[in-house]
Formats: sequence, structure tokens, C-alpha cells
Amino acid sequence: MPTKLGQNFLRDKEVLEKIIESADLKADDFVIEIGPGEGVLTEKLIENAGKVLAIEIDSNLASALDSRFPASPAGGRGNDKVSIITGDILKINLPEILRGHLMSIMDIKCPYAYKVVANIPYYITSPIIQLFLETKFPPSEMILMVQKEVAERICAPQGKMSILAVSVQFYANSELLFYVDKKSFFPIPEVDSAVIKITPFQPATSSPALLLSKEKGVKDFFRIVKAGFSAKRKILVNNLSHSLKLEKYEVEEKLKKAGIGPTQRAQELSVEDWKKLSLSFPHKRESSE
Ligand code: SAM
Repeated sequence: MPTKLGQNFLRDKEVLEKIIESADLKADDFVIEIGPGEGVLTEKLIENAGKVLAIEIDSNLASALDSRFPASPAGGRGNDKVSIITGDILKINLPEILRGHLMSIMDIKCPYAYKVVANIPYYITSPIIQLFLETKFPPSEMILMVQKEVAERICAPQGKMSILAVSVQFYANSELLFYVDKKSFFPIPEVDSAVIKITPFQPATSSPALLLSKEKGVKDFFRIVKAGFSAKRKILVNNLSHSLKLEKYEVEEKLKKAGIGPTQRAQELSVEDWKKLSLSFPHKRESSE
């Protein structure tokens, strides 16, 4: 059985029910599923939501899904609630697909009008989350099964932050919902799992990403975050001065201005701290990069 594509299929019905409960689906919800595999979750999503768009890279699995959920002939019986796309989630044109589906099928003209519910392939967890958080049309909510350790890092509190935690919490609230034993899958993977909920900030709320994009580039924000996390054991001032090629006293001044102590470490800063800190560094021009 190939596991190269993260093909470990969910067998535990209780876990399946808990995912569906967590997604709190309404009859008119539009749901995107990444990696439907054999379709266990897809079937439940179809039962509980208005429309499901499932993207599967494996063409054999995708054609089996087409047979399992056949489209209805005009006016006849069948399944019009699901569309299966054969493709790589990281290569499809997400904004175009979303625009098409959200505006024509559901007749909804705003972002945040869909949910992502998926047991994703773990080898591309970060790029998948990044894709949906950085798109023009972010979802209202993502319920994702991911590797246990990755779930804990994504949902880490202040004091245990990492670049991954900042990259997600910059755009969204993240919450670890429950753990899932590796024996819930076939074939049994090497790692345990957890289901997380990621809720992107909407324009009405004070999203750090939105506020920052008005004041200063998001790219600049992450340049400072990466510099701050560059060496795990060093304190922030050393990492920043080394990576950004600045004198220590200059960095200390900027830390002070942002209300951050001189001996603090990167993992102790909140997203708000990083935002304040990044604003105290000069904007890096694109041409000088
Ligand atoms: N959802 C199913 C379940 O719960 O049993 C399968 C989950 S399995 C962990 C991950 C699925 O993602 C597999 O079906 C795999 O073929 C698919 N997959 C892997 N890489 C992918 C990619 N880049 N784009 C879309 N699907 C992918």
C-alpha cells in the first residue's frame, strides 16, 4: 500500500463523527475537502453540508470516488452535492475554483463563505494551511486532521511559539480539538494525530495581517520573525543582530520601544509583540533584496 502520498485512511467511525460534529455543518454550507481518499469523510460531508468540492491527487482514487458518488443525469437520481477534482491541491488555481463555485453554484459573493474539512496528507500540512490563509478567499473555518506534534505547534500558546505558530496565528485563531490514535487509520501510520480548528480573522475583527498590510508589508513582518527564530537557543537580541547585521545596542533599542525585554527569547513573543517589533525596523525595499 503506497503511503508516499500520505495515504492512511480513516477507519474509526467515532473519530469521523467527532470531525463532523466539530465542523458544525449547515444544510447550505459549501465545503472543500483535500485528499478525500476512499471517501469516508466525503460521504458524511455530503450528508451534512450543501455542497462538497473534493480534490484528490490520486487518479485511481478519484475515479473510484466518481463511481461511488455518481452525478445525476439531468432531472434524474444521483448526486449533485459533490464535485471531485483530480489534481494536486498545491497546483490548482484555488482563487479561480473558489470564485467559480462560490459565485455561480452557491450564489455567494463574499469570501469566508465556505469551510475546509479534511484529513489532509501530512507531508504538505504547512503549504496547505498557508494556501488557504493567504488566498484572497479564505474559508470561515478549517477543521483539519494533522500530525499530533504539528497540531501542538500550530496551536502553541505564548512561551512555546515557533515560526509555524506565528505563521498561522498571524492570520487566524487556532485550537486543538482532540487527539486521534494512530490505530484509527489503515495502514497504521508511524505518528499519532490530532484534529485542529483554524478560524481566519475576518475584516471586521482586528486581524494582524490586515492591520499590518496597511502600515507595513507582511513580507517585512516575516523577515523579522525568521531572523528572531534563526538560532533556537539564542536570545532574541543576538538572533536579530546577527541575522539582520545590526549592532546589538540598535536591536536593544528597538526591543525596548516594542516593550520587549532584552533577554527574551523568540518563543516568548505573541503575534502582537512581533507586529510591534517589526514596525520598529526600517522597511526593506524590494529592489535591495
Ligand atoms: N480523507 C481520507 C480519509 O480520511 O480516509 C484520506 C486521507 S489520507 C491521510 C490523504 C489523502 O490525500 C490521500 O487520499 C492522498 O492520495 C491525498 N493526497 C496526497 N497528496 C495530495 C495532494 N497534493 N493534493 C490532493 N490530494 C492529495
